[in-house]
Amino acid sequence: MDALARAMPMMEFRRRFADVDAAIAGTVLRMVGNTPLVRLRHIAPDLPERVEVWLKLEGMNPGGSVKDRPALQMVRDAIADGRFTDGKVLLDSTSGNTGIAYALIGAVLGFPVELCMPGNVSVERKKILSNYGARIIFTDPMEGSDGAILKSREILHNEPEKYFKPDQYNNPSNPKAHLATAREIFEQTGGRITHFVASIGTGGTVMGTGEGLRRLNPEVRVFACEPDNPFHGLEGLKHMESSIVPGIYHEDRLDGKIPVETEAAYEMTRRLAREEGIFVGQSSGAAAVAALELARGLDEGVVVAVMPDRGDKYMSTRTWEFEEGKTVR
Ligand code: PMP
Repeated sequence: MDALARAMPMMEFRRRFADVDAAIAGTVLRMVGNTPLVRLRHIAPDLPERVEVWLKLEGMNPGGSVKDRPALQMVRDAIADGRFTDGKVLLDSTSGNTGIAYALIGAVLGFPVELCMPGNVSVERKKILSNYGARIIFTDPMEGSDGAILKSREILHNEPEKYFKPDQYNNPSNPKAHLATAREIFEQTGGRITHFVASIGTGGTVMGTGEGLRRLNPEVRVFACEPDNPFHGLEGLKHMESSIVPGIYHEDRLDGKIPVETEAAYEMTRRLAREEGIFVGQSSGAAAVAALELARGLDEGVVVAVMPDRGDKYMSTRTWEFEEGKTVR
């Protein structure tokens, strides 16, 4: 390879880093945000007449999940203030969706991505990540997402100059990305939203959207939905009491937490597909269970729940059933 050919990738990388907006123009990254809001019509005929439940379909983002928003915000902010410079590798721990978002953004902007994650994440996620070009470092499934966090800290500790680590659990750009989510929801409900529900992983969605909604209307009530025990089967979610609590998560700013059983979340995920035509992941089922529980206790209100991703990443899990020659239900 001659000197010019060797220099080209770096020049290209620098050009992209100099102006993120110009680099994003005309790419799939322009599709991040502005997701649809749809109303639940069939699942809960027993709801009081003046109570509405709406779902924010974050799976419509280009990487297929809500995490495109904070990942792009964290990369943008770190480039702007010089934490992420050319030549560095993006490193983080992620249970999947944030990693997919990083890998997608890395593919568009042209930087390498390395990700630590528990070895038991779904095969779909592993294939998506590696085909976007990310390098995956697997950690012990028994240690869950905390094991991946500790591994990425160790890698960074050993070679601090090589990496930029967004650290989504402690990075204020994560919740900040959701001020836009809040504005969208406020506009899409014509300012009528009364209650907001999101399932918690890093807590970025519930904290940032909650904060944004309260700025627009201090009366909006904000609820987190979490797995009801530490050994749940809801990929992407954290049972806070038994986990390392993220720095961006402030439970005292919530109006309440709604625990959801794994099986109830799976059942709701299947019902959303079957009865509403909404094909989403298990954490969406969990948020819908919580939203309906909340809605049933109201006389009047507009409840909005976040559906963090689509169902297709979970094909190999037991959420989705298939029996030859039979409809599923
Ligand atoms: N659902 C899924 C499927 C996720 O991957 C995540 C992120 N880990 C969440 C919900 C929770 O989002 P947040 O990190 O904003 O709390």
